[in-house]
Amino acid sequence: MNRRPLLAGNWKMHTTVIDACQLAAEIGKCSVGVTDRDVLLAPPYTVLSEVAHVLHGSNVLLASQNVCWEEQGAFTGEISPTMVTSVGGRAAIIGHSERRQIFHEDAEIINRRVQGAVKFGLIAIFCVGETLEEREGDRTFEVLEEQVKAGLAGVAPESMKKVVVAYEPVWAIGTGKTATKEQAQEVHAFIRKLLAEMFEKDIADSVRILYGGSVKPDNVDELMAQPDIDGALVGGAALDAESFCRIINFS
Ligand code: PEP
Repeated sequence: MNRRPLLAGNWKMHTTVIDACQLAAEIGKCSVGVTDRDVLLAPPYTVLSEVAHVLHGSNVLLASQNVCWEEQGAFTGEISPTMVTSVGGRAAIIGHSERRQIFHEDAEIINRRVQGAVKFGLIAIFCVGETLEEREGDRTFEVLEEQVKAGLAGVAPESMKKVVVAYEPVWAIGTGKTATKEQAQEVHAFIRKLLAEMFEKDIADSVRILYGGSVKPDNVDELMAQPDIDGALVGGAALDAESFCRIINFS
């Protein structure tokens, strides 16, 4: 199965308008002519619109870092799928470990977000990952199974073309510690097998599964060479144009 690679940058709570426009322009420039893979940026909400203008006409996709399941209403602090699409956003990151851990977003909320995103036509970049304690306690697969089943509950098989899964071991996010290519491949293959059980093999084979956790220019090539790793969700290194451009151009 030929899955189109996806290199996604999550800027988290970084960049003012000026920084964001400059960074987006540099990334847009190095993405010119990149046609065999998707490049995506998830800037803070405050700069989505400006970044969309900077990227206009480029092939870089825009995403929000989270999304609500409702189109509008009394949801202070949230952003709706139609707000995201209204500025040209095509995707939303959902269930990032920082949302789960710091802001206590639970499985039910995350599932509502995934369902809301796909209902309104966004690509849901659905994140899962175990903590160090869970890995050391030999609970990695159990935890991931729980997260994947809960997060994708009620998602129709035909909506799975709007879902990208991101495996992000919590212990590897922002720590400089990357899962080895073997550890990452093992989990990606597990998730794909699980998707085949939940949906069907063809669907599982077509879903892109990204790896995230300290992806950098010097480890992206070996990670991307794994058969079940279809891309990367990048935090820190996505804030540096040179590093992210190298990641986009993995070989
Ligand atoms: C992330 O925030 O999704 C992430 C993987 O961060 P980093 O690349 O900095 O580990």
